[in-house]
Amino acid sequence: MEHVDVIVVGAGLSGIGGACHLKLECPGKSFVILEGRETMGGTWDLFRYPGVRSDSDMYTLGYRFRPWREARAMADGPAILRYIRDTAAEYDVHTTIRYNHRVRRASWSSDHARWTVEAETGPEKTVVQLTCNFLYLCTGYYDYESGYTPEWSGLERFRGTIVHPQKWPEDLDYAGKRIVVIGSGATAITLVPAMAQHAAHVTMLQRSPSYVVSRPAEDKLANFFRRVLPDRAAYMLTRWKNVLSGTFFYSLARKRPGVFKWMVARGVRRQLGNEYDPKHFTPHYNPWDQRLCMVPDADLFKAIREGRVSVVTDEIETFTEDGLLLKSGERLDADIIITATGLVLRLFTRMQLVVDGVPVDLPKTLVYKGIMFSDVPNLAFAIGYTNASWTLKCDLAAEYVCRLLNHMDHYGYSICTPRVNDSDIEEEPVIDFNSGYVQRALHTLPRQGSKTPWRLHQNYVKDLSMMRYGRVEDGTMEFKSAPPIARHAEA
Ligand SMILES: Cc1cc2nc3c(=O)[nH]c(=O)nc-3n(C[C@H](O)[C@H](O)[C@H](O)COP(=O)(O)OP(=O)(O)OC[C@H]3O[C@@H](n4cnc5c(N)ncnc54)[C@H](O)[C@@H]3O)c2cc1C
Repeated sequence: MEHVDVIVVGAGLSGIGGACHLKLECPGKSFVILEGRETMGGTWDLFRYPGVRSDSDMYTLGYRFRPWREARAMADGPAILRYIRDTAAEYDVHTTIRYNHRVRRASWSSDHARWTVEAETGPEKTVVQLTCNFLYLCTGYYDYESGYTPEWSGLERFRGTIVHPQKWPEDLDYAGKRIVVIGSGATAITLVPAMAQHAAHVTMLQRSPSYVVSRPAEDKLANFFRRVLPDRAAYMLTRWKNVLSGTFFYSLARKRPGVFKWMVARGVRRQLGNEYDPKHFTPHYNPWDQRLCMVPDADLFKAIREGRVSVVTDEIETFTEDGLLLKSGERLDADIIITATGLVLRLFTRMQLVVDGVPVDLPKTLVYKGIMFSDVPNLAFAIGYTNASWTLKCDLAAEYVCRLLNHMDHYGYSICTPRVNDSDIEEEPVIDFNSGYVQRALHTLPRQGSKTPWRLHQNYVKDLSMMRYGRVEDGTMEFKSAPPIARHAEA
């Protein structure tokens, strides 16, 4: 059976980043990337809806080790995909990807100090097995098979076209059509102004509003730094500027929600004027109880001002032949209805983890430093921040994995396992968002503890000091040398 030091699962933004870190920081380690799809890029290849883009800036969504060089800070999907592909080629990790290898099971043997990973490949779903010393899961956070669609009455009666943004039909012609987009999250907010450029009219139908904030698509200061400084220095400076301003605004929102709400409301008023009903942009929850929505150069507000888009805050009573009947009695006629109703949050989609013959029950585990599970040896995962760019955390996770591997090599250890050895640790939900997609999945997710290293900081500066500079032997991570069978096998 083929054996490598590390198996990375997933060739999205995190998997490619993780592989580059391995190349840079653990040059002696062998690794492969197993990717279930036939291409790399994950999210940025899967989502094809009009206008698909990031809503964080690319100076923090990009990798620490490779500057983002394009002028737009909030980039479109194809540009992000290009960045991932170019990074993989530049660091020569693209050759390590095994496409069409969907991992279904990974089982750890303490006797052999290794994981056996089973992946289905090819049209026949032939199972191949590989072994590795360390498993790094970069599989994202949602189900790729399908997005979330609530159960609505009368759905089958609608004579037009219904589309979920996760499965966008390549040939969908919406020019001159009446469109209703159901939803108020990042996807709806992105889709609505993009479709309004060609549609007859777009209605955004939301059950409850989101906080929507406009930001410049281009960061003038970043572009100035790029003109006067070397590439890397300019990138680092902008990255830190954005990390610190993001942290400041997040903590303002949590500590002084009233001030933050006032600032957001003022921004909306400036864009739409005093006549516009503010209820459509006044959520009932506090800022950052759910993710904020960012719009580049106020594109959504501009489309509303120009009359190409309208927002309706109401609930669906039933689908009809011609569109929707709302609870208020209002009717919305449509040729196309887009259900931007979210993702199905799922960790390690359809993959079973087993430790010494016992399946890992994720909700019974605690997350260690936000990247490993209690009592699960030699396994890390890459899950980004909920309140800042994904890659900030995933870069730190990969860096920590490399530190851990180098530490184990240095001291002759083969097994590392986070152990809860402090009886004062209390368990808490791993995410404190009240969004529907989080609440629906919470019972399937691991938990976090009340204290470091079991507590998620959701704060880059704190994580940086813990993961880059904190002690690897912190009294919580248990290290062991290779057991006799494993030593015998290696010899
Ligand atoms: C439309 C959209 C916009 C977003 N915008 C932002 C943003 O602006 N800022 C931000 O911070 N975050 C954003 N996110 C979150 C986003 O998912 C991350 O930024 C990031 O792209 C995730 O990268 P990833 O590599 O961790 O996961 P993914 O992109 O999901 O990639 C995971 C990869 O793993 C593969 N995989 C999964 N399971 C298996 C398996 N069992 N075997 C083999 N391969 C497997 C998948 O095929 C995929 O290629 C956005 C998400 C979406 C859906």
